[in-house]
Amino acid sequence: MQKCNNCNFPFKWGKIYKSIMWFYKPIQCEQCGTAHTISFSSRFLASFMVLPIPIFGLILSPSENEYINVLIGICISFACSLLIPYFAKYENNT
Ligand SMILES: [Zn+2]
Repeated sequence: MQKCNNCNFPFKWGKIYKSIMWFYKPIQCEQCGTAHTISFSSRFLASFMVLPIPIFGLILSPSENEYINVLIGICISFACSLLIPYFAKYENNT
């Protein structure tokens, strides 16, 4: 999990998750106040979490009901999004 690049203070999961949900809002370290922005590669990774919605809804179609297919896609996307804070990398905002 991401730590502060300046003082090594660990960021909480919820703080990172919230940052991603707010369109990659910068994170400020609670200890030293250094602002961190999400790296380009993490932003790229996070954008993949919406992919299961069209894949399950249109391509795989595991159920005959398209609403259920989309719902399955949304559930998988949501589960993936919960893991993003473990992979997301943040950089000093200088
Ligand atoms: Zn810090």
